Amino acid sequence: MAGSLERVRDHFGRPLDAVRLSVLDRCNLRCSYCMPEESYVWLPREDLLRFEEITRLVDAFGLLGVGRVRITGGEPLLRRDLPALVRMLAGRPFLRDLALTTNGLLLADQASALLAAGLHRVTVSLDTLRPDVFRQLTGSAAHADVIAGIDAAVRAGFAALKLDAVVLRGRNDDELAALLAFARDRGAELRFIEYMDVGGATGWSAADVVSSQEILASLARAFGPIEPVAGDRGSSTAARFTLPDGTAFGVIASTTEPFCGSCDRARLTADGMFYMCLYARTGADLRRFVREGASTEVLAAAIATAWRGRTDRGAEDRLAVLDRGPLLPASALRRIPHLEMHKRGG
Ligand code: SAM
Ligand code: SF4
Ligand code: SF4
Repeated sequence: MAGSLERVRDHFGRPLDAVRLSVLDRCNLRCSYCMPEESYVWLPREDLLRFEEITRLVDAFGLLGVGRVRITGGEPLLRRDLPALVRMLAGRPFLRDLALTTNGLLLADQASALLAAGLHRVTVSLDTLRPDVFRQLTGSAAHADVIAGIDAAVRAGFAALKLDAVVLRGRNDDELAALLAFARDRGAELRFIEYMDVGGATGWSAADVVSSQEILASLARAFGPIEPVAGDRGSSTAARFTLPDGTAFGVIASTTEPFCGSCDRARLTADGMFYMCLYARTGADLRRFVREGASTEVLAAAIATAWRGRTDRGAEDRLAVLDRGPLLPASALRRIPHLEMHKRGG
């Protein structure tokens, strides 16, 4: 089915190759950089796409040549019977990469079932090795469950396990070397993520961002000279580096060195809104099309039309903002909850 329509490119010539698929907006953590508020406006249950509806849309993306899907949220492992969705997606031959991003809390129970269902890769978010810091960052005492989830993913035999750490000044920036050593011990690749001023990060401040340059300098002090991995980075979000012992790691410098020029990722919310950028203010309602019985071809044509008009370079636009603060206040997010990071998937 893949690619039977002409490959679609946006206004700047960027292809559409990947979809981040949020399957639920709810979460069992309250990370300070993502969901710091007391209360949230949740998507109505009846608006959530059923698995058949999700796969219809993924088929439409497949018609346009999309070959990579990452399941995310909110917390995707809270979605009931997620392995059934994974099984349906894994059966799509056009998907060369089927990945999942999770906070890991429920992974120990589900890792084997997800692998058996055909999931290719898992990324677990892990910002700290210290339970007390975890509690401050997430409001949860369940740090041990995240570690157990990571170990279960290793035991289950997931290849190319990745760990993602958002680095926050004064919170976990003294743990960079320890996090990297932890990942190395488990054969996982760690990626450090700069703190982004996305919707949801209502407490964002430039002073709290630890830049890629600072991260690399800190690691060089701990491990010795750091080498960039040679070769084209393609559309990858992470710039990759190696330690003197050959350990590879990545840095996702979305805030100080954005990579919008090669961004080939679209986002689909759990209720079927289609966004073409993490920072986009507006999106297209694909659920309506699906529920009106549109064919896969019609859905693909609607997606293609939207993508051709895409001019988004959200993170680069933000670089130009003087006196930068949070993208949106909590009041605006309550009015338009789709602007939240946990709605559109990180
Ligand atoms: N709940 C899952 C998790 O945390 O892995 C999946 C969804 S979460 C929105 C996806 C990723 O976005 C996580 O790795 C999280 O750390 C990252 N993220 C959320 N808010 C962020 C922010 N303000 N800056 C940078 N990364 C952020
Ligand atoms: Fe944290 Fe992910 Fe939940 Fe956001 S969606 S609060 S990053 S666990
Ligand atoms: Fe892509 Fe938007 Fe992120 Fe830039 S800010 S990399 S265009 S999602």
